Amino acid sequence: MCRMHLRQLLFACFLGSIPAVLVADGVVPHDCHVKVVRVFTDGHADTNAAELAVSGSTASLKIPATQIGKGCVRVELWPDFAAAKKGDAGYFLLPDGRLGTFREKSGKVAAGESQNYMPFYGMKTPSCVFAAVAKSMQWRYSTHAEAVEGIYRMYTAYHLNGDAPYEDFETAYTFLPSEAEYPQMARVYRDWQLSRGACKPILERMKSQPELALAATNIEVRVRQAWKPVPSPVPYQTRFNEPPVHPAVTFERCGDILREFKRQGVNHAEMCLVGWNKGGHDGAYPQLFPVEPSLGGEAKMRTLIADASALGFQIVCHTCFYSAYTIADDFDEEYLLKEKDGSLQPSHMDWGGGRPFRTCPQRAYERYARKNMQMMKDLGFHGLHYHDVYSILEPRICYDPRHPCNPRQSLDWYVKQMEVTRDAVGGTQSEGPFDGFAGNLDYCMYVYFFPLEPNDYAKTPLVDRHVPLFQLVYHGIILSNPFTGTLNYPVKAPHKRLKFVEFGGRPLFVWYANFLTGKSNWMGQEDLTCATDEELRAGVAAIKKGYDEFEKLADLQFALMDDHRLLTPTVSLTTYSQGTRVVVNHGSVPYVFEGAEVPAGNWRRFDRSAKNAAE
Ligand SMILES: [Zn+2]
Repeated sequence: MCRMHLRQLLFACFLGSIPAVLVADGVVPHDCHVKVVRVFTDGHADTNAAELAVSGSTASLKIPATQIGKGCVRVELWPDFAAAKKGDAGYFLLPDGRLGTFREKSGKVAAGESQNYMPFYGMKTPSCVFAAVAKSMQWRYSTHAEAVEGIYRMYTAYHLNGDAPYEDFETAYTFLPSEAEYPQMARVYRDWQLSRGACKPILERMKSQPELALAATNIEVRVRQAWKPVPSPVPYQTRFNEPPVHPAVTFERCGDILREFKRQGVNHAEMCLVGWNKGGHDGAYPQLFPVEPSLGGEAKMRTLIADASALGFQIVCHTCFYSAYTIADDFDEEYLLKEKDGSLQPSHMDWGGGRPFRTCPQRAYERYARKNMQMMKDLGFHGLHYHDVYSILEPRICYDPRHPCNPRQSLDWYVKQMEVTRDAVGGTQSEGPFDGFAGNLDYCMYVYFFPLEPNDYAKTPLVDRHVPLFQLVYHGIILSNPFTGTLNYPVKAPHKRLKFVEFGGRPLFVWYANFLTGKSNWMGQEDLTCATDEELRAGVAAIKKGYDEFEKLADLQFALMDDHRLLTPTVSLTTYSQGTRVVVNHGSVPYVFEGAEVPAGNWRRFDRSAKNAAE
């Protein structure tokens, strides 16, 4: 750890416990209720009005699972107060951070089950401001906003597939004062999560996780070392028809990157090896070994791990137990996840290992996570180990009678995998922001699966923009890179860098982000490559820009994000719990904030001590 980061750490420790932030109360509307619509598997539907139990500023809906029973394909909850009309002031707020003002006559948008990252949504209308928190049945519903003939409504839809609900329904609607905005809605949810111990701030966790403290103030560098063609031309691979592996970055070449880091002044980082395993990236998962021979094999990998540690870099790797490929030595349908009719659940796309079939979360823990995480430790890895996929998708249901899992049980098994990982190597990271992992996830690779290209929002009905909703809840609790579009930001369009700073990100750099054959890549077209020494030096120089920028912001990773607002349509203000404010100017002319100029296309940090001095 270099001197500067030690100072940041001490500063963070001085902050001690984060003070509780009070949220003023709003008033529950008179006679509010929720319309409950049950749609049955045979197509018929019924509707009931459910009364809410009011306590202070919160109205709670409780529906026993037995009252819904079996045979529903869908249950919808429509609060009567979740309504507005075209032209009203205010907005709807989806769980994935998308916000839309009431500007259309018709249209619909939803955070589907796989985007319902937090069981929470909100709405601000001329009659009320509220945050709705699902306190049970969180993992099997979608959140909707729709406009019909100029009337906007929000509702949630639970997808039950004919099964009885796996637990009772409970949703709490908390009402806020009329001046409250989305940061106050986020606060309702954050307070609930912290107060019940569902997660803990980094400041607390790092007392027993030194690897997390180091990662928090360090950039993340992923190196995709090897892969087979994606999409795979051979869906069902065997050792006789397996496509060739393309080795892009050997273990020795990874060492060259680290040495060039040192030469250019990138003195600390966490390096994550991707595709180090048999067959490269997605080569034969869940099988990992032998270490891919074309990269140098196990001996060279051990040398790299030792070299990285000697140079002061934390080093971890990427594994995936979410899916299984036929080429895995121990491929066996017994451990795969089953649909209700007993069929398997293949992925929509053939990856490097061929056609992936989802594994049962219970079996993934029992057969793979425990022993493999111990092996990661034995190899010398330590830091935030990367589990692919898990936190980017809602927990699945497994109907195999030998290992049945409802969504909550699935989540419990995934969490166990995270726990054994943290115990073995010091920490965890995964692909997305699903917050059932909140107590056991240290870094989220991208919060919003969104490229941030021009006119992207014009393609999403009703939506105006993203707000840092995940960050208002989890900044200072889970490290994150905010968008797919912000990874490798120094080599991308300038506005992505500004979004990254506005949303309080921890930088993520990916060597060989582009590895798909003939397809556009979700991580962007720009890339970091190292086929020649010139490319390698240029890649490191790009990373150095992000490294230098993060040096000025890294200590904020220990603070919660308390507020976010637009000062003008192109200037944002982000406020952290220890008092620091960051003003980002997305516009084309300078902006003056408290007497200091924030240049166009740049940002400026205002610390509390500096503000006090100015006053
Ligand atoms: Zn199962």
